[in-house]
Amino acid sequence: MRKQPVRTCVACREGKPKSEMLRVVRTPDGEVRIDRTGKCAGRGAYVCNEPACVEKCVKKRIFDKVFGVRLSDDAYASIAEQYDSNKP
Ligand SMILES: [Zn+2]
Repeated sequence: MRKQPVRTCVACREGKPKSEMLRVVRTPDGEVRIDRTGKCAGRGAYVCNEPACVEKCVKKRIFDKVFGVRLSDDAYASIAEQYDSNKP
């Protein structure tokens, strides 16, 4: 198996292959969203593709710390929504 780059989840701090994680990106215009392509410009953070970790990020406002900005409740609601709507 090809060796994959490992990323650390911002919620549980576990390291996992990139392909098992979600990339959350803060775009240059300040929007934070889930990046399914892995190619969006901006600062990225990785979180496990698991409801528990996504929920933890939203509940504990982990992205405030990760991105160094205070995100609105709407921004977090939108992240949760994007995650829900993309479930297999
Ligand atoms: Zn995690």
